[in-house]
Amino acid sequence: MAAGIRLYIDGTLRDGAAVDATPEQAHYLGRVMRLGRGDAVVLFNGRDGEWRAEIEDLGKRSCRLAVLGKLRDQAEAPGPWLAFAPVKKTGTDFIVQKATELGASRLMPVATANSQTARLNTERLRATAVEAAEQCERLSVPQVDDMADLEALLAAWPERRRLFVLDETGGGRPLAAAARAGENAAGGAVGFLVGPEGGFQARELDRFAKLPFIIPVMLGPRILRAETACLAALAVWQAVAGDWK
Ligand code: SAH
Repeated sequence: MAAGIRLYIDGTLRDGAAVDATPEQAHYLGRVMRLGRGDAVVLFNGRDGEWRAEIEDLGKRSCRLAVLGKLRDQAEAPGPWLAFAPVKKTGTDFIVQKATELGASRLMPVATANSQTARLNTERLRATAVEAAEQCERLSVPQVDDMADLEALLAAWPERRRLFVLDETGGGRPLAAAARAGENAAGGAVGFLVGPEGGFQARELDRFAKLPFIIPVMLGPRILRAETACLAALAVWQAVAGDWK
């Protein structure tokens, strides 16, 4: 087995199937990892579980893989959603990578009053999510939405899904307590909303207070960077009510 090479493939994975890697993956397998015919890799596609596969044919920009046997069933519970105001470039990449490692199932960039809604390179964020999913041995890749504005996000939010808003002004409940309470509520369908460097404006916090599915929560007495708040919120949730059991 090649040193744990794990690739996200957008093709059906079942016994005897043959799937094609992307040109970038072919380059990685051949040129970077110096693999060839017969070398084994691990594949997942977010639907069919995790499979062992072998390189059947490898060119500079193409690679055909023979799917040999299933290693793991697609048995992951869908993780929390994370809505976040994009922060300066590396910060947003950090949020996507860490949220993927922490099991988020959907990433929703949102433009808030104080967020510098600079153009978001969504394709690059999706590639970051795939890479992080491959590395952390997830069986799925989080969905990365295009940027939406806050109003649209709230209007489209499913009422059944609790939305924990990270309120740095101290107006919220400690997240661990809210998560424990939530543990007994119907289903673990939750989401988190984290504001930008400049925080939420009062009128946004007022708006949140009126929505029945929103629970303001706090992460202690210090003001965290948005990246830190995203990571900390997901970690607390997974530890208390998620899949870190
Ligand atoms: N308004 C602050 C910074 C906001 S920090 C300022 O201007 O200095 C960015 C985001 O991280 C906040 O909008 C909030 O969603 C989250 N956050 C930071 N610290 C937090 C805390 N202690 N509790 C809850 N959320 C927090």
